[in-house]
Amino acid sequence: MKKVALVTGAGQGIGLKIAERLVKDGFYVSLVDYNIETAQKAAEHLSSDGSKAIAIQADVSKRDDVFAAVNETVDQFGDLHVIVNNAGVGPTTPIDTITEDQFRKVYGVNVGGVLWGIQAAHEAWKKLGHGGKVINATSQAGVVGNPNLALYSGTKFAVRGITQVAARDLAEEGITVNAYAPGIVKTPMMMDIAHNVGKNAGKDDEWGMQQFAKDITLKRLSEPEDVANVVSFLAGEDSNYITGQTIIVDGGMQFH
Ligand code: ADP
Repeated sequence: MKKVALVTGAGQGIGLKIAERLVKDGFYVSLVDYNIETAQKAAEHLSSDGSKAIAIQADVSKRDDVFAAVNETVDQFGDLHVIVNNAGVGPTTPIDTITEDQFRKVYGVNVGGVLWGIQAAHEAWKKLGHGGKVINATSQAGVVGNPNLALYSGTKFAVRGITQVAARDLAEEGITVNAYAPGIVKTPMMMDIAHNVGKNAGKDDEWGMQQFAKDITLKRLSEPEDVANVVSFLAGEDSNYITGQTIIVDGGMQFH
């Protein structure tokens, strides 16, 4: 059977690894990103003739953009089975510094992007006459409030709530809704932070990374692939009896 997945924020970082993994799993994948250049490059790398991976530009905070991206995916590949609402932004926001613009931006992308993704996929599945799987990005910071992340943590708690509600609202139509919660992932941004922490202490990058790894039970930062492995499970048939859940993929940062 032809399987089709849409991944938002797939131009780089965790989303790119998810897209790569889903192509490996046999999915036709549309890589949706605000940054069309990175998404295009990634799609070409995954499928040189464009037959298995395509890039679509969308700002996930805009409902119309998300609906258009879902419709284009169905037009191009003829079907849709999985939507991974992965795109997100995560600025550091000490509580007294938060502005209305920041509030709108971070909630618009992280929460709006998930809501519009669910609505658009639901509409597509109604037309296609079958259900599918929604997979949402939350975070370890969406399970425990992290210092200086009032906006980000708040949005990621919201995503867990929406995941539970949508799972109940859409179950009768054969739709499951789950989420994944990464911890500290080795993305370029995280490597920069580790580099600076090391540099400021007169040490190297590895030392910088170890400062973060100390609080992790498995004593290492997450590779993006650790997260993609879990998304692959949630996208596949082995997770058919799971819905409304958040799978925490943080190496055991703390026990709740
Ligand atoms: P992570 O480390 O969580 O993977 P990155 O910042 O490396 O995060 O990647 C996030 C991706 O999401 C980027 O490709 C970025 O362009 C994309 N993105 C961010 N905001 C939006 C948005 N509003 N709409 C679509 N894509 C977005």
